[in-house]
Amino acid sequence: MQLNNLTISKTHEFLVNKEVSAAELLDLYLERIKKVDVRVKAFITVSEKEARKQAQKVDKKISRGEELGILAGIPVGVKDLFCTQGIKTTAGSKILENYLPPYESTTTQRLLAQDAVIIGKTNLDEFAMGSSTENSGFGPTYNPWDLGRVPGGSSGGSAAAVAADECVYALGTDTGGSIRQPASFCGVVGLKPTYGRTSRYGVIAMASSLDTIGHLTKTVEDAAIVLKYIAGHDENDATTPEIPVADCLEDLKKSIAGLKIGVPGEYFITGIDAQVKERVEEAIKKFKELGAEIIDISLPLTEYAVACYYIIQPAEVSSNLARYDGIKYGHSAKDTKDLLDVYLKSRAQGFGAEAKRRIMLGAYTLSAGYYDAYYLQAQKVRTLIKRDFENAFEKVDVILTPTSPTTAFKLGERADDPLQMYLADIYTVSLNLYGGPGISVPCGFIDPVRYSLKKESTTLKDKDKIGNNNEGKKLSNGVDSLPVGLQLIGKHFDEAAILRAAWHYEKATAWGEQRPVL
Ligand code: GLN
Repeated sequence: MQLNNLTISKTHEFLVNKEVSAAELLDLYLERIKKVDVRVKAFITVSEKEARKQAQKVDKKISRGEELGILAGIPVGVKDLFCTQGIKTTAGSKILENYLPPYESTTTQRLLAQDAVIIGKTNLDEFAMGSSTENSGFGPTYNPWDLGRVPGGSSGGSAAAVAADECVYALGTDTGGSIRQPASFCGVVGLKPTYGRTSRYGVIAMASSLDTIGHLTKTVEDAAIVLKYIAGHDENDATTPEIPVADCLEDLKKSIAGLKIGVPGEYFITGIDAQVKERVEEAIKKFKELGAEIIDISLPLTEYAVACYYIIQPAEVSSNLARYDGIKYGHSAKDTKDLLDVYLKSRAQGFGAEAKRRIMLGAYTLSAGYYDAYYLQAQKVRTLIKRDFENAFEKVDVILTPTSPTTAFKLGERADDPLQMYLADIYTVSLNLYGGPGISVPCGFIDPVRYSLKKESTTLKDKDKIGNNNEGKKLSNGVDSLPVGLQLIGKHFDEAAILRAAWHYEKATAWGEQRPVL
């Protein structure tokens, strides 16, 4: 039996029954990383030394007959945006290439307190801005289902690592879709909790009013397990309220008969790949069979979400990234003549193109004269988008949409076209503006050879650039299908409802059990 493709609870059983030790388990995962990560490139750093220490600690507990927590000894990948004390943390940026954090993020601290084994730091778009992991300062990650395609982003390394069985689960961050979209591209489960449910302390800030800490797992049950340990008030993050964390795990199996699921028409019209649409419609039928009540709803301001997000988000980026000045920490340019020169050269050399683009956009929309026209307007639109969700949640318990309009696109396909890249988030950014929880679960596969988008109407100018333009092409690893993701959205702090709906759907379909061939 293969041991390194199991869920958290299964792996836990093996450890508790002493069928494998934590050290042996770690070796299996390190071997797997050695074997596949030369091709997948999910990790920036493999923290073998630190992981061995943690595994030893767990094995000692086992030998002393101490009770073992469910996360104990289980290898976890951590997006390289979480500060890990003594383990290099780059944020996917050359400007932090050699940064060794002097402290631990709350989330990794909470996992370590459960004796989790951090196996390494995963690749991401620079400072988490991007939808393909191609904006990483250290090269892209490759999608385990087809190495010619992107894994999504920005938590692409975490999604690929889970899909390729290089770790049992992984931490990610979601500012505009960066957990859900890569989860959907890589065929795994991705949970973005409510903003404030998880602590941002020690996670390198990008857009502070949107950044949310969450995780990528193989199953919905695993998503509920991890949430239980990382959620809750943190005195180091004032945006985490003292609302008690419901035990979503207990709740998972409760029936979803009568659960009201809203389907917003706006998510099924423009730019969606026809096969993705088919898969999601099949999922809606499945939910009906499971006893849920499907209700047509409207989120009328959906079309303004991307524009609103790409004003607010870069504004916060320009402010948060001002701290990288070549002096306090990070890259510092050599051969400089004065202080201004240090700032200019360090930032010019350290930041990649997308970071520079957003700093410029943000500085512009925040500047005198443009602030009222752009930033203030966008904040008002954000309030209206929130209201859209609040109105919808008066009628329904959960909202169902596709996670992304397409499956994984090819490497390089959108890299030079920021607007096309931004549109990859069209179904995910609204939720960050609202702040509620969302989960992406696998809902089937598409045949990438069947190019279908042309049949769909779209308001986007260059429609041929969207979708999988793969006519007649075979996938590089022989797999002839790509995973599709379904998004379930909940009310603020109601992770329990989306997890429960997702759990029942997963049990009824088992799409997530498919694995890529590597
Ligand atoms: N792709 C979006 C962006 O580039 C979202 C990123 C994220 O969620 N971290 O901003």
